Formats: sequence, structure tokens, C-alpha cells
Amino acid sequence: MASYLHPETMTDALGAIGAGTRILAGGTDLYPATQNATLAGDVMDLMALPNLRGIMQTDQGLRIGACTTWTEIARAALPPALTALQQAALQVGGVQIQNAGTIGGNLCNASPAADGVPPLLAVDAVVELVSATGVRVLSLQDFLLGPRKTARLPDEIMTAIVIPNTALEGHSTFIKLGARAYLVISIAMVAARITARDGKITGAALAVGACSATALRIRRVEGALVGQSLENAAATINAADVAAALSPMDDLRATAAYRTHAAAELLRRAVTETCKALA
Ligand SMILES: Cc1cc2nc3c(=O)[nH]c(=O)nc-3n(C[C@H](O)[C@H](O)[C@H](O)COP(=O)(O)OP(=O)(O)OC[C@H]3O[C@@H](n4cnc5c(N)ncnc54)[C@H](O)[C@@H]3O)c2cc1C
Repeated sequence: MASYLHPETMTDALGAIGAGTRILAGGTDLYPATQNATLAGDVMDLMALPNLRGIMQTDQGLRIGACTTWTEIARAALPPALTALQQAALQVGGVQIQNAGTIGGNLCNASPAADGVPPLLAVDAVVELVSATGVRVLSLQDFLLGPRKTARLPDEIMTAIVIPNTALEGHSTFIKLGARAYLVISIAMVAARITARDGKITGAALAVGACSATALRIRRVEGALVGQSLENAAATINAADVAAALSPMDDLRATAAYRTHAAAELLRRAVTETCKALA
């Protein structure tokens, strides 16, 4: 018989989770995905669990609880390296979705168009997965295996996203392109994080989403930006290098060619904005 579980301790949650348990956080991906009035099977609602919500500084880095909502992220006092994440938070659906939807749900749902992913890739985020047998920590890039496919095991709960202290430097920008300005699934989106000294770029992290099976970093372009002046950096971004890293698809929202073109232009704009903030 199907059950609704609402554990209040992690011990209870890990004791009750089974191979077929459907984990529920904000439900903003899970409910629309079902064609029925109710969710089938055993459902475990995580939202009463302690320590899964909120943002705190730890020795390892900044820890964002997996059940932290987009509204909470947007309103938090975070360093400029996470401005891109906060800009993304404000563009996930509308206010109601941001109040209910969580960062962990966005990552575990593993949509190629998940807006939370590029800003987190740009800060080398790792995810923490807990099961009755222990804790696993994976880089976000390794966690995302493909559309709707992650490295999460059926008995694991994502408890947190951790951003290492070394990646909390610099400024960042997120830009999303959709068919309209609000309440839209991304055609392409980018995040840029840049560090600089004496007017020159010392480090760059660029991530593009919705243009490949999972969002990814554009390492070649990142390398080419290092040493460039803040004024000229964006102009040096080579569209062919961006295109070489991507494998977009044609769908009802855009053609692959349009996505490729858009990704390079969005990266130029994101780098321009970030360099302005650093100048
Ligand atoms: C109208 C609308 C507009 C939207 N717009 C956007 C948008 O612009 N950009 C965007 O990126 N997304 C958008 N979304 C999708 C969704 O709101 C986000 O992906 C949100 O962050 C999902 O979080 P959630 O807590 O609601 O996840 P849920 O629906 O509760 O869960 C999603 C998946 O993750 C699993 N899961 C959740 N939490 C955990 C956990 N801690 N551990 C293990 N597994 C877990 C669930 O089992 C499920 O498979 C939109 C959705 C709607 C309905």
C-alpha cells in the first residue's frame, strides 16, 4: 500500500527509505511530471527534516542545505561569487515557484535547462549524499550524468551543496535566454565567475546550460581569458571554442545553431558584466 512519509529526523528518514521511495521536496518538478491527481507509490517528504534548510559557513566552505528554497537563496547575504546563483534564483519560474522549489530538487531533477546548475558549476560546487551506509561527496559535474539522470543511489538523500572556500572569490553573473523575459524554460543560460588583480583576469569559470546533455564548463575559453585586461576580455571570447564544447539539440524552443550562437553571445555579455563589477 502506498504511504506518505514525513520524517522529522534523518535517522527515521534513512531507516524508512527504500528503492522505490519517491523523494518530495517542494514538489514543483515532481507534481507537474505526474499525469495523476496524486503521486503514486511511497512518497517521502523531506521538508520537516532538520539541517536541510539554510545557508551556513563551515570549515569546508559555504554549505547550502538541499531543501533551501530559491527565495531563501535570493534573500541571503552571499558573497559576489554567488551573485550568479542569486540572479538565477530570481528567474526560476515565478515567486510561488521560488517559494516552494528547492535547490536540491533542481539538481536531483537533472533537467539540462535547470537554472541552478551553471552558477554552481562556476563555483566548483560539490553535493553531499547521505544514506544509511554513510556520506558520499561528488562534484556537481560528476553527479549530473545526463537528462533526468544523476549518480544518486535510490537510498540516498541529497543533504547539501557545498561551495569550497577557494571558489568564493571574485564576482559572478548569470544570464538566461528564453522566449520571453519571465516564467520561461531556458533556451540557453550562462554563468561567469571571474577573479582579477591590477586590472587583469587571474581566473575565470564559465558554465553554459541547455546546450548539451548536462550544463558544463567551457575550459578552453576560461584558459584564454586569464591574463586579459578587464576592458577587453569579453571581445576575446572565441565563438568557435564555445561551439566546440557544446552539443545542443533542436527542439520546440530553439534550433541547435541558434543555441550555439546564443551561448557565445551570452558568455560575452556575462563576462562584460562581471568585469565591470571588478573594475
Ligand atoms: C511553473 C514552473 C516554472 C518553472 N520554472 C523553472 C525555471 O525557470 N528554471 C528552473 O530551473 N526550473 C524551473 N521549474 C522547475 C522547478 O521549479 C525547479 O527545478 C525546482 O528547483 C525543483 O525543486 P523542488 O524542491 O520543487 O523539487 P521536487 O519537485 O520536490 O523534486 C524534484 C526531483 O528531485 C528529487 N529530490 C528533491 N529533493 C531531493 C533531495 N534532497 N535528495 C534527493 N532527491 C531529491 C525528487 O525525488 C524529484 O525527482 C519550474 C517549475 C514550474 C512548475
